[in-house]
Amino acid sequence: MTFPIYLEVDQIYNLACPASPIHYQHDPVQTTKTSVHGAINMLGLAKRVKAKILQASTSEVYGDPNVHPQTEDYWGHVNPIGPRSCYDEGKRCAETLFFDYWRQHRLRIKVMRIFNTYGPRMHPNDGRVVSNFIVQALLGQDITIYGDGSQTRSFCYVDDLIEGMMRLMASGDQVTGPINIGNPNEFTILELATKIIEMIGAKSKIVRRPLPENDPRQRQPNISRAKAQLGWEPRTQLQEGLTRTIAYFEKMLSEDSVRETQAVE
Ligand code: UDP
Ligand code: UDP
Repeated sequence: MTFPIYLEVDQIYNLACPASPIHYQHDPVQTTKTSVHGAINMLGLAKRVKAKILQASTSEVYGDPNVHPQTEDYWGHVNPIGPRSCYDEGKRCAETLFFDYWRQHRLRIKVMRIFNTYGPRMHPNDGRVVSNFIVQALLGQDITIYGDGSQTRSFCYVDDLIEGMMRLMASGDQVTGPINIGNPNEFTILELATKIIEMIGAKSKIVRRPLPENDPRQRQPNISRAKAQLGWEPRTQLQEGLTRTIAYFEKMLSEDSVRETQAVE
């Protein structure tokens, strides 16, 4: 039996949906449902209580992009039936719903397209590249590069992302997005691996693993719209963001090993 929840709500952040490929591909049917049913339910709630509503969309709506860097008016290049589609198409359909509720019901919407974000408090088994490489390097394990490592990503530190999100929510009703929030500094995956090994002083070897199907070749946000409409741009560059993230995982792993030692005793 389900019970209704009665809440005073004036702002809704719809952040639901796992974002790491290994997690969202674990149960792809639920992934699409989370984005599509979740958006419908939250939009219905926003309509009823007249709340502003923000959707955490993604750079994945651009798929494996033919336009580089990606601007918000690019429609993308997404495979509708591949292993990433549950996430990409789910998020694309959610954007459609947001804009239809805006056109049809005059809802106050905010759609942000988030580019690869990282930082402290990621789960060690998150599965995305930054946490994988840091944990592998700290444990002296092999660093797993998928493909030849020439594919690129642009990594945004979590605090910058949150600042962009809060500014978007606080913006005037005419600002609906979609709006790219990311750090335009672009790196190859091989550069990222080399940098992390060097920063940690790790003994890890780089090993190659197969490139996942439909893995985007390149990704870099054009953030002109965020600068113009939100006065936002990222402040934390990769070196500094990685330093803080490495410190976080170092502490976590040393606490884990203390706990394991105590458990043995
Ligand atoms: N909804 C909800 N909480 C609310 C209001 C609506 O979960 O407070 C759900 C509702 O169950 C519906 C969906 O949001 O399935 C969309 O609501 P809307 O009013 O837009 O659609 P309608 O019910 O008119 O089809
Ligand atoms: N990747 C990698 N090794 C890993 C995890 C990821 O080489 O252990 C690659 C992945 O193939 C992709 C890039 O790093 O090209 C970013 O992957 P991630 O899963 O972090 O995010 P995506 O941008 O693909 O959603």
